[in-house]
Amino acid sequence: MKISTRVGSLRGSATLAVTARAKTLRAEGRDVIGFGAGEPDFDTPASVKQAAWEALREGATKYAPTPGTPALREAVADRMRTHNGIECAASDVVVTVGAKHAAFEIMQCLVDPGDEVVVVTPAWLSYRPMVELAGGSVVECAAGLDQGFKATPERLKACLTERTTAVVLNSPCNPTGVAYSPEEMKALAMVVAEHRSAVLVSDEIYEDLIYPEIDPEAASFSPGSMPELAERTVTLNGLSKSMAMTGWRIGWAVAPGGGGVMAKAMTRLQSQMTSGIPTFLMPAAVRAIADQPSESARMREVFAGRARLVAQLLGDIPRFRVVPPSGAFYAFPDISACFGLRSPKGREVDSAGSFAEALLEESDVAVVAGDDFGEVARDHVRISFACSEEQIRTGVDRIARWVGALH
Ligand code: PLP
Repeated sequence: MKISTRVGSLRGSATLAVTARAKTLRAEGRDVIGFGAGEPDFDTPASVKQAAWEALREGATKYAPTPGTPALREAVADRMRTHNGIECAASDVVVTVGAKHAAFEIMQCLVDPGDEVVVVTPAWLSYRPMVELAGGSVVECAAGLDQGFKATPERLKACLTERTTAVVLNSPCNPTGVAYSPEEMKALAMVVAEHRSAVLVSDEIYEDLIYPEIDPEAASFSPGSMPELAERTVTLNGLSKSMAMTGWRIGWAVAPGGGGVMAKAMTRLQSQMTSGIPTFLMPAAVRAIADQPSESARMREVFAGRARLVAQLLGDIPRFRVVPPSGAFYAFPDISACFGLRSPKGREVDSAGSFAEALLEESDVAVVAGDDFGEVARDHVRISFACSEEQIRTGVDRIARWVGALH
């Protein structure tokens, strides 16, 4: 059967592929430690499940408004105003099938063939295919380990041209776990503000998972709250990461600029794609937003402890170089000192991909190779610590032994 050129050359998500492989090996009886999935191991709060049950019982099973019910859009707008300082109305909000679909729609709505989108890398591996499917090209603003994985205003500025349509910033960052300070974020945002027309896409999906215990400067800041950028920022967020609701597929975009043109464009597009999230999930999402402050604070505490543990354990592996994660639930060690060596079972390790594959086959630990996170990410693997401290200790111990046995 014919497949379009566009999709024929599309790579599937490497993180989802590793997660699926780890599940298959587990089903075969292998004791695999999964550091692959970007998914909290907590259960969704009971109050949220209850709200979904009640909505189902009350018959919320018909089509709902495409961008979300008025109650849900208002709940999101209220959170964005009070929590993020972004001036917006319910009509500026579009609720999407996860933040992933919000990002996809934004690229479809913003990018024309020939347009450039600047992405600070290492970056979430879905931005590039989203830009390319829209006909644009990605310009990587590389911020490697030696820069603490942080872009500087000078480097960002050097990436902007008259073809730049959008700049994507993501703090805390997947895959590096690095969170900018508000001052650093403001300085980067000002570079976009000074460009004549570029839109800032601020992906804040991990904003509730920041660890000042590790980096006292790290804190959440929404560039959409800056008067200079209020008209030109689209802010992404959702419930997957901070409320342990990955499988619910609930995200959103808020775009107050231009008299609501972006929200209207996304809604038109969405009306031809998903028609919005399931109706009975809308009241559950309202409940989740109400409960978020206390629930995500509880999870944040646990993640902070894990972040400290991971930084310490990975820091003790002689062949690894690590930036301690100050947000999200990822560490992104440089493993290039392992290249050119052979694994205990004789496999050649010459790339992040061969490292990850051999580690999984020989030591039953799943990590994601850095390649798809950007050019500057090639010598790295992503380790997700969204699992118990016991699993972290066991998994990192296996990694340390395996890496120690490379020869
Ligand atoms: N943005 C970033 C940076 C992510 O890491 C992810 C998920 O991994 C998403 C957006 C999408 O999250 P979801 O579609 O589950 O809401």
